[in-house]
Amino acid sequence: AQQFGMQEALHALGIKEINDGTSTGSNSFSSGPIIESYSPVDGQLIGKVKTTTAADYEKVMQSATEAFKFFRAMPAPQRGEIVRQFGNKLRELKEPLGKLVSYEMGKSLQEGYGEVQEMIDICDFAVGLSRQLNGQTIPSERPGHVMREQWHSIGVVGIISAFNFPVAVWSWNTALAWICGDVCVWKGSEKAPICTIACQNIIAEVLKANNLPEGISCIVNGDYTVGEMITNDTRIPLVSATGSTRMGRIVGAKVAERFGKSLLELGGNNAIIITPTADLKVVVPGAVFGAVGTAGQRCTSTRRLIIHESVYDKVRDAIVGAYGQLTIGNPLDQKNHIGPLIDTDAVNTYLAAIEKAKAEGGKVLVEGGVLSGEGYESGCYVKPAIIEAENHFEIVQHETFAPILYLMKYEGEVENAIDLQNGVAQGLSSAIMTNSMKEAEKFLSFAGSDCGIANVNIGTSGAEIGGAFGGEKETGGGRESGSDAWKVYMRRQTNTVNYSDQLPLAQGIKFDL
Ligand code: NAD
Repeated sequence: AQQFGMQEALHALGIKEINDGTSTGSNSFSSGPIIESYSPVDGQLIGKVKTTTAADYEKVMQSATEAFKFFRAMPAPQRGEIVRQFGNKLRELKEPLGKLVSYEMGKSLQEGYGEVQEMIDICDFAVGLSRQLNGQTIPSERPGHVMREQWHSIGVVGIISAFNFPVAVWSWNTALAWICGDVCVWKGSEKAPICTIACQNIIAEVLKANNLPEGISCIVNGDYTVGEMITNDTRIPLVSATGSTRMGRIVGAKVAERFGKSLLELGGNNAIIITPTADLKVVVPGAVFGAVGTAGQRCTSTRRLIIHESVYDKVRDAIVGAYGQLTIGNPLDQKNHIGPLIDTDAVNTYLAAIEKAKAEGGKVLVEGGVLSGEGYESGCYVKPAIIEAENHFEIVQHETFAPILYLMKYEGEVENAIDLQNGVAQGLSSAIMTNSMKEAEKFLSFAGSDCGIANVNIGTSGAEIGGAFGGEKETGGGRESGSDAWKVYMRRQTNTVNYSDQLPLAQGIKFDL
């Protein structure tokens, strides 16, 4: 990695070899056992991070709770100004942060830069929004009365995030939460802890330059046991959790038990429907990028292609042909399309899924396998596989976080393809490739895709921040990022004000004294 300037990148991000949580004052609370972060790119140690103990966590919460009292009183457009400065810092540091994402998580450098660009985009969005946290006025049924709705800051927002977007998911949450007047306590993934430190260093500098309390942005480090401190904490009214359905089932239940709100962004099992009129020039790059981008480790990765029988052979051959062009290797080297999986556990899960698909009757069209030898020393590089399968196979019903693409046929009308597409437990992203307006509109109608994201003539992955992001069913139902997703970071209050001299009751109820 030396040749790709990683040391310079780490230096620019203020990363020391052993980190104590963050680079700044009272937020440097972590004193627990060390986690070591090894790069899946070359197997080298990137750095060590101290984890957060229960006692450290109390200090973090004290700092966050104090900061909230200050921050909620700051006018929203002024909070927007802080987010604007944060976005500008990210512009300055796009290259080193993008490189670190690529090196610690393993996605291609282009995708690493793309992830930082998403952070910049959500900051821009949030800055504008800081002047638009509008409530509404509502006509009252009573004379001399007015009703309105206001949005107030909610408090300390807990953020638990996954390894695959180790920086962007944090900023989707924080950029909105901050303009809403909330403060954040983030537990990043224990598989990408250096990215967490880097992000915290960047915002800490912005807060310091503006003389603002450090507790506006806090991090805690460690595995699920540290996550549990957040989920069980009644001082945290909102927990935004991104990760597996397995995790969301636990976190959602824990938070609900204490009447907290949760925003769940969980696994997907995303399909592209390829109809007879689909344009192969669009289908091939859309499907291949969707399936192998980030080595199949995006929540929106394409896992299933549902292809009309009349074009099945043609589409299959084109996709299989395109797989032959893919290069696998160091993701910092821009000639490679595919980098490593996050760790060797993920490699084993990938191998087991291929075996399971075969055992259930799947036919392998493009063989998978683990790469070894020069450049593949980390043991995390795998070949993307294509398997002909049926939708009801247990393994197809399951999200395997790896580059395995299942091909299946449909017959007759598009409704049959939509049934297959919806016939899984997850509901994140979906797409149809068609030149038929009727098919496209059916797919987008109430009777069409049941996912939170439904696209026409683009793939399943690569959402823009302007739209609300998230999905239904086992994906958890949460929405982040654009549209009116900001509302979840605030509490709604309905006000009725009487400016008359009488006290008429609602619903015409008489109460004479
Ligand atoms: P994971 O569920 O293993 O871990 C995610 C985070 O949850 C980590 O920080 C982990 O420490 C924490 N965690 C795990 N169990 C917990 C518990 N019981 N209590 C509190 N915290 C707990 O997921 P991962 O392997 O890091 O990421 C991959 C998964 O994330 C995939 O399923 C993917 O689809 C999903 N994902 C979803 C979205 C989305 O927006 N829908 C985005 C990115 C990733």
